[in-house]
Amino acid sequence: MWRAIALTLFPEMFPGPLGESLAGKALKEGVWALEAVDIRRFARDRHGTVDDAPFGGGAGMVMKPDVLSDAIAAVSPRSGGPDVPKLLMSPRGAPFSQARARELAKGPGVLLVCGRFEGVDERVIEAHALEEVSVGDFVLSGGEIAAMAVMDSCVRLLPGVMGAARSGDEESFEDGLLEYPHYTRPASWTGPDGIERRVPEILVSGHHGKVAEWRKKRREEITRERRPDLWARRTAKTDEEK
Ligand code: SAH
Repeated sequence: MWRAIALTLFPEMFPGPLGESLAGKALKEGVWALEAVDIRRFARDRHGTVDDAPFGGGAGMVMKPDVLSDAIAAVSPRSGGPDVPKLLMSPRGAPFSQARARELAKGPGVLLVCGRFEGVDERVIEAHALEEVSVGDFVLSGGEIAAMAVMDSCVRLLPGVMGAARSGDEESFEDGLLEYPHYTRPASWTGPDGIERRVPEILVSGHHGKVAEWRKKRREEITRERRPDLWARRTAKTDEEK
């Protein structure tokens, strides 16, 4: 069973949205397990202090190294926890990616440390060799939503979770391209702007080869237009292969 452990000051946030739909069904079926560990349990005083003012001054509070370190140690292999990659949710981390999700999904699970306040004491990151991971160039108020995003992207890749839905290899990012546009019935639809829109003729032609060709072309156009960074990486790669 694939195991996700979240270290958090808000354990009641979990499973939250991960208890619904695809991930929720897989959770109930035991395809994966989720444990939310309350960092506050490891506080050393009776007030349950988990943060303190930053050395050097400045705004906000910092998560204390001793408390957080004890929480991490309590779920480590030495304490009977699983031997899994240890991630720290962090806006200055490496951008999380579909490739990393795939790697994590292949392994035994993941440990996700959710920051709060201004973040965590740097020494804990060093001492536990935490891998800093960001879910995007914006700042959340805590790591919980980021951790859920990471978990969700891994869980849907676990064997049996998506069923026969799709192999996944044609999805956005899997081969460096964004997805092609989707259409469903009705074949003709008039929107609130009064304009009738028909689905592209090729899609109702029944010609699988031509459909595949059209989709590939659309994926390339959309990627070039919207994500020149992905497109550049892809063209560099194909040049290399030549
Ligand atoms: N002072 C920090 C922001 C702290 S936000 C800074 O300027 O970079 C509080 C917590 O939210 C962080 O410790 C982290 O765990 C989480 N977080 C915020 N934005 C995130 C992002 N883009 N990706 C992953 N985690 C994030």
